[in-house]
Order: sequence, then C-alpha cells, then structure tokens
Amino acid sequence: MVETAIERQVERRLAESDVRFTRGRRAVIQALVEADGPKSAAELSVLIGAEVPVSSLYRTLAVLEETGVLAPHYSSPGLTRFELAEWLLGHHHHLVCIDCGQVEDLAVDEPTEQQIQALVSTVAKSVSFSETNHALEIEGHCAKCA
Ligand SMILES: [Zn+2]
Ligand SMILES: [Zn+2]
Repeated sequence: MVETAIERQVERRLAESDVRFTRGRRAVIQALVEADGPKSAAELSVLIGAEVPVSSLYRTLAVLEETGVLAPHYSSPGLTRFELAEWLLGHHHHLVCIDCGQVEDLAVDEPTEQQIQALVSTVAKSVSFSETNHALEIEGHCAKCA
C-alpha cells in the first residue's frame, strides 16, 4: 500500500505519543482525506464500512483528537464532527447547511484570506483581544437543499 504524505505525517505524530497507526486509524484518516468537510462518527461509519465497527470508531476518533491529528467541529447541537487538524489540512473555513446539516470545507484565495485576516485583526484589536487564529462559518442552504 502506498502511503500518502498526510499518512506519513500522521504516523510520525502518533509515534511521538507512542500510539500505533493501526488499520482502523488509517481507515479514518483516509476517509477524512477524501471527504470534503468534517464528518461525524455516523457519517464516517457509512464512508468506511464494516472495516471499523462503530464501537471502536468513537475510541479511534478520541485517540486521534487527543494526539492533535483531528480537530473537532461543532456545528450542529449535540453533534461533533471531526476533520484533519489545520497543520495537516491547511487553513480553511466552512459552509454550514442549515437544512441538511452538512459542513463543507471552504478554502479562499490568498487576497481574500488577507482581507478576512485584516478584518479579524481590526475586530480583535477593538476589544483588546490578542488573536492567534480564526475560523469563518458561512451558514445557509447548500446547492442540494437550495
Ligand atoms: Zn443541505
Ligand atoms: Zn474543515
């Protein structure tokens, strides 16, 4: 099996925490690499199939979050979705559909990102907040639901 660059980075990070990159953990990473946004355990279960039982999927997600490989995303009440952390996936924002609940990644071009960054800095400064990062959520209706 050919290992992707992301898998190699994940493997290295897990090794630092003495965590093995098992087949189940690899399956979760591969599913998230191919996904277009954060996924919940139930959504991942559909994508991965029987290879990883739901019971161990929750534990797998917890381990990958604890080791900083996955980042949680809270868009729907009571539901946590996970995605690859920004050091793996790159900085981006999210589109949240208020009808079907799907969350999609949104990467903007560099000039737009600089405009967002400038706006965030202005707002943070105005309330004496020292910002380190930001995440933009655009809520609305996805193409399927519109
Ligand atoms: Zn939708
Ligand atoms: Zn994302």
